[in-house]
Amino acid sequence: MSVRVRFAPSPTGKLHLGNARTAIFNWLFARQLKGKFVLRIEDTDKERSSPEYEQQLKENLKWLGLSWDEGPDEGGPFAPYRQSERLEIYQHYLKKLLEQGRAYYCYCSQEELEAERKLCLAQGHPPRYSGKCRHLTETKRRRYEAEGRRPTIRFIVPDEVVEFTDLLKGKMRFYAGDIGDFVIVRSNGLPAYNFAVVIDDALMQISHVIRGEDHLANTACQILLYEALGLARPEFAHHPLLLGADRSKLSKRHGAVSVEEYRREGFLPEALFYYLATIGTGGKKEILDKEALIAQFDLSKMGRGNAVFDHKRLLWINKHFLRALPPETILDHVRPFLPADIKDRNKVEEIIALIRENIETLKGIKEFWPIFSQAELELTDEVIHILKQDEAKTVLNVFYKEFDITPQKYDEIFKKIQQKTGLKGRKLMLPLRLALTGRRSGPELHKILSFLPSQWIKARIEKALRNT
Ligand code: GLU
Repeated sequence: MSVRVRFAPSPTGKLHLGNARTAIFNWLFARQLKGKFVLRIEDTDKERSSPEYEQQLKENLKWLGLSWDEGPDEGGPFAPYRQSERLEIYQHYLKKLLEQGRAYYCYCSQEELEAERKLCLAQGHPPRYSGKCRHLTETKRRRYEAEGRRPTIRFIVPDEVVEFTDLLKGKMRFYAGDIGDFVIVRSNGLPAYNFAVVIDDALMQISHVIRGEDHLANTACQILLYEALGLARPEFAHHPLLLGADRSKLSKRHGAVSVEEYRREGFLPEALFYYLATIGTGGKKEILDKEALIAQFDLSKMGRGNAVFDHKRLLWINKHFLRALPPETILDHVRPFLPADIKDRNKVEEIIALIRENIETLKGIKEFWPIFSQAELELTDEVIHILKQDEAKTVLNVFYKEFDITPQKYDEIFKKIQQKTGLKGRKLMLPLRLALTGRRSGPELHKILSFLPSQWIKARIEKALRNT
């Protein structure tokens, strides 16, 4: 059997890190086994879905480095890949269920359902629909229709035990009786998730459904539908969820949770990809590139245990990739943070190679950027305060005198200032660094200065002296 997996996001919000992780697992699995990775857009929740979110999801998946073999824009043998374009297909299967007497119209109002739910809870049962509308008489049905009630359609859950072997969790058992007849078509006529997903996974010949364990209960419903519709079911693998430090499901309460936010914060896609691919898998901590991740991917390890999101580790990984990737790759990623009119690519790559040891995210490059792109720098009150100290002023004055507008050997100038002032180390270098870069730390000063026109250096020292 050929491997076909899918990522099936609902375009109702930004791409969550947890979902991105699921997408990565599916992608790695497909790439390792030379299978197909399908992108399917589950947009039947009309109120909450939007084309803008779909666009953003796709962009963020691409940014992470994921590519799909079949999808809404790419097409493929089982097109269309957007659920809102597959409504006729669902109708066909709905008709089948209705004709076989395996589904029925339910006219219960939200209030009635809520009252039932409360009653269940009060009696100490898990809430479940009573099946009240299963045996509606034709008269009653007509009366509800005349009242203008818009029915949902429910699947008749058989009284049986649902069993399946999850590739990660092992044997699973659910009592279908606990589930209650669930909605397969909403009152607006659109298919509910559990119904559409079964038809799509079956028709798209998905071999493995790899998703978060929060879908386990849905899987029981889905298996009942596979059986009722006579469709072959895929293998299932439910992985543990991404958790926050308090071990609850990672959510906005924990801070940034969307790929978009990490992208804007200046994380490299390579770093986020690697982190999401390996978090919670235990084992080696050696950092691997994508090819190695594909080769070593082991689905069984994805079920190992909790994946507690650790921002510090992600930052550490990001720093690793900032140092390890070729400067040209970093330049491509850092572009959105820098002005659009970069002309000299080579020079910028050299600057990146120079400052990458001193930054944690791409935003760091943005912070260093003014040093290399404008003649004069802003000096904060704190900087001016330091530069006003006598020793600092002396250093700046001597530097200004020694400095000559022709190309300089800065190390030699620093040595000269040391001889003349008797100052060395921080006392010598900090005032110069502050006046010339506006910052307390960074790469070696002489290396920075070698990138700057002499006029700028002169202007910066003059500005510092004017302010002291
Ligand atoms: N659209 C569903 C979601 O985003 C897909 C779940 C699944 O993989 O079946 O949660």
